[in-house]
Amino acid sequence: MKNIAVIGTGYVGLVTGTCFAETGNNVTCVDIDANKVERMKGGEVPIYEPHLDVLFERNIKQERLKFTTELAPAIEDAEIIFLALPTPPGEDGSADLSYVLGVAKDLGKIIKEFKVIVDKSTVPVGTADQVSAAIREETDIPFAVVSNPEFLREGFAVDDFMNPDRVVIGTEDEKAKTIMNELYQPFIRDGHPLIFMDEKSAELTKYAANSFLATKITFMNEVANFCEIVGADVDRVREGMGADTRIGHRFLYPGIGFGGSCFPKDVSALMKSGNDHNFNFSIIDAVLNVNNQQRIKLLDKVLDHFGDIEGKKFALWGLAFKPDTDDIREAPALYLVDELTKRGATITAFDPEAIDNVKNVIGDKIEYAKNQYEVLDGADALLIATEWSVFKNPDFNEIKSRLKSPIIFDGRNIFNLNDIREKGVFYSSIGRQTII
Ligand code: NAD
Repeated sequence: MKNIAVIGTGYVGLVTGTCFAETGNNVTCVDIDANKVERMKGGEVPIYEPHLDVLFERNIKQERLKFTTELAPAIEDAEIIFLALPTPPGEDGSADLSYVLGVAKDLGKIIKEFKVIVDKSTVPVGTADQVSAAIREETDIPFAVVSNPEFLREGFAVDDFMNPDRVVIGTEDEKAKTIMNELYQPFIRDGHPLIFMDEKSAELTKYAANSFLATKITFMNEVANFCEIVGADVDRVREGMGADTRIGHRFLYPGIGFGGSCFPKDVSALMKSGNDHNFNFSIIDAVLNVNNQQRIKLLDKVLDHFGDIEGKKFALWGLAFKPDTDDIREAPALYLVDELTKRGATITAFDPEAIDNVKNVIGDKIEYAKNQYEVLDGADALLIATEWSVFKNPDFNEIKSRLKSPIIFDGRNIFNLNDIREKGVFYSSIGRQTII
C-alpha cells in the first residue's frame, strides 16, 4: 500500500487514481476545477469511460479514493505524486508546459520530505529536467522526477490501465525505481513488461509511439484515396497487407483521419521538438498535411455529388473523435461541420455521448437530435463521422423513409459493401467503390 496524490483528474488522472486505489493504495486526487471535485465527491464520474464507474464507486466507498482542490494537504502524506495535467498544443504546435511546470513550482514550495514526482502527462524530451529545475528553484528537500508516460486509450482506459501492454518508467534514481517497481507489480502479473529507461527516452517513447500509430493510419488513408482513383478495394488491400505478421491487422482501417486529444497534438509536438533541435521530421510533416485533408474528405465527396450545397440539409451520425468516448477534441466531425456550414448547409447531428460537449463548444451552430433516426428527417443525405456500434446495423427502411433521398456518405466504412448493395441506397465510403 502506498499513499499517492494525483494532480489533475481528467481522462488520465481519474483513471490513474481510480486504478491505483483499486490495487489497494490510498489515493487523493487534486483538481483546480472545484465544480468537478464537488461532483466527484458526490459520487459522480465526470467523464464517460466504460467500466470506470464500478471501480470509482467501490474505492470511494472503501475510502481509498478521495478528492480535493487543495494541493498541500493532498501531497503531505503522499510518497508518490502523479502529474496528470493538460499539455495542450501552443500556437506553434509545441506542448504547452505551463500547467506541469506551474504545479512543479507549487510542489517545490510545499514538499517537506522526499517525494517521487511522476510525470504522466505527455511531454517533450527534456521536460523531466525542466520539472526538476522548477522544483529545485523552490526547495533543497530531496526528490526524484520520473517520466511515466501513459498509453491508455479513451474508451478502453480502465482495461488498458489495469492490463497495460507495457509500462515505461524513465528514471535513473534507484529509490524511485524501487518505489515505481513495487507500485506497478499488480498491473504486470500476466507477463507484460515494466520497461525501465532514462527520463528522456521515456518521454520520447510516448511521442514516437503515438506518431507511429498516426503514421500507420495516415498511410492507409492515402492507400484508400489511391484505391478510389484506380478502382481497387481498400478492404481487400487491408486484408492482404494485414495478414503479413510484420504489418498486422490493427490500425489499417481507413477513414476521415485521426483526431482526439492525443494524436494531433503529440504528432505536432514531436515535429516542433525536432525543429527546436534543427531536425526535420519529414515523415511527420507529411502525416499532418495528409490528415488535415483527410478529415474533410467527406466534404469533397458531398461537393462532387451535390455541387452547390447552399441550403442543403445534412444528417450527421457521430461527433466524438472515435466511438465509446464523449471526447470531441480535434474530432474530424467538427472540421466537417465547419466546412459544410461555411458553405451554407445546415446540419442536424446525433451522437450517443458527445452532444453535450459539442453544445458547449459550438452551441446552436447545428441542431441536435434525440436519436439516430430523428436526425434523418428531411435531410438531403446522411454523413457518418464516428463508428459507434449503434450505427452499424441500422434499419435501412427507416433511413430511406426519413431522408429526402437515400444518400449516405460514410467516413468510417461501417457497412459491408456486399450487404449495402441490396439496400437501395447511394453509398459512398473511403477507398471503396461507390454504390449507386
Ligand atoms: P484533461 O484535460 O482531461 O484533464 C486535465 C485535468 O487537469 C482537468 O481536470 C483540469 O481541471 C486539471 N488541472 C488543470 N490545471 C490544474 C492544476 N493546476 N491543478 C490541478 N488540476 C489541474 O487531460 P487528459 O486527457 O487527462 O490528459 C492529461 C495528460 O495526459 C496530457 O498530457 C495528455 O496528452 C496525456 N494523455 C492523455 C491521454 C488521453 O487519452 N486523454 C492518453 C495518454 C496520455
